[in-house]
Amino acid sequence: MNFDYKPLANYSLEDRNTLGFEVVAEWVLPITQAEQIPAAIRWAKNAGLSHRVLGGGSNVVLPDQLQGVTLLMDIDFIEILENRDSNTRLRVGAGVNWHDFVGWTLDQNYRGLENLALIPGTVGAAPIQNIGAYGVEVKEYIDAVEAYDCQTNQWVSLSKADCQFSYRHSVFKDERNRFVITAVIFNLPKVWQPRLSYADLTNHFANRSVDAITAPEIFEAVCAIRTQKLPDPKVIGNVGSFFQNPVISNQQLQILKEHFPQMVSYPESATHSKLAAGWLIDQCGFKGMQLGNVGVHDKQALVLTHRGGGNAGELLGLAEQIQKRVKETFGVELVVEPILFT
Ligand SMILES: Cc1cc2nc3c(=O)[nH]c(=O)nc-3n(C[C@H](O)[C@H](O)[C@H](O)COP(=O)(O)OP(=O)(O)OC[C@H]3O[C@@H](n4cnc5c(N)ncnc54)[C@H](O)[C@@H]3O)c2cc1C
Repeated sequence: MNFDYKPLANYSLEDRNTLGFEVVAEWVLPITQAEQIPAAIRWAKNAGLSHRVLGGGSNVVLPDQLQGVTLLMDIDFIEILENRDSNTRLRVGAGVNWHDFVGWTLDQNYRGLENLALIPGTVGAAPIQNIGAYGVEVKEYIDAVEAYDCQTNQWVSLSKADCQFSYRHSVFKDERNRFVITAVIFNLPKVWQPRLSYADLTNHFANRSVDAITAPEIFEAVCAIRTQKLPDPKVIGNVGSFFQNPVISNQQLQILKEHFPQMVSYPESATHSKLAAGWLIDQCGFKGMQLGNVGVHDKQALVLTHRGGGNAGELLGLAEQIQKRVKETFGVELVVEPILFT
């Protein structure tokens, strides 16, 4: 084994999953430099163990016992590759805290990421589900993703097209555990316009001239709105939205709206619309419901919560009940958003 440190056995991940489940990992390897990864993967393979990658643990549901080797991504750097009149290109380590990075870009007067403020987790995880909020998706600002390919044992640089980004999806979700992302290359154009199409932001800036609104003001507004609506994982365990907003054909939407005229929807493309999963769950009576140690948040039905003493089995049991009732009521499938580790 080529490490100058040893894998850590029976390691508690209670502080590294925002649901706050008591989880013990069989082995963990903190990764602070990309160069450690090939030896880490070799070690796992030679020991006949599976491997997985953990960032901040804000989009995973972990079992009580996590078998195999868990790589803890702590690679921490920000590098300015280019700063031109037209755009800025940045190379950012996978372990950098996402929200701190967004704040840093604004301190440098690089604009574009402000709508994605206060999303928990790491920069390396941002491409996995193409994080998005308030009308912006991170794919718009990603140029490339640097990773170690555990299948071919090679370093790769994946272009935006290679990443196959779509709504809360990318190639990294299809090819689970194949790529260990070490850095993300961002391209932030200097030409900038406020993105205020989401109702909360439109309302927040209702009395302002659009030309006078700055990116730091949007950052502050997003932080304020999110703090009001979403539970702080340090206080109440959660992974943000537990289900994706279902995308359905406009034809199906029309039929549903005949039965449920109040149904909340947003145009997704010329042919499809996105439904508000939170609204569907709320209509089925789950909002604020508590089931043992887990529950549905009382301000946002899309967020499932854990207040201590619970585990993945309990939470997934509640999620199944919700999926079943929504399917029975609306004929719509709810897809779980976080990654379920086994
Ligand atoms: C309160 C709250 C609000 C949230 N709001 C939003 C939101 O508005 N929009 C949104 O999109 N998401 C949101 N999320 C979900 C979550 O914050 C994001 O998905 C985030 O990107 C996860 O980052 P993480 O580092 O915690 O990833 P983890 O939870 O650690 O991992 C998630 C997945 O990514 C993989 N992964 C992580 N790092 C790497 C890496 N370096 N290389 C390869 N694979 C990796 C893991 O294996 C796992 O499959 C929210 C979560 C919470 C708790």
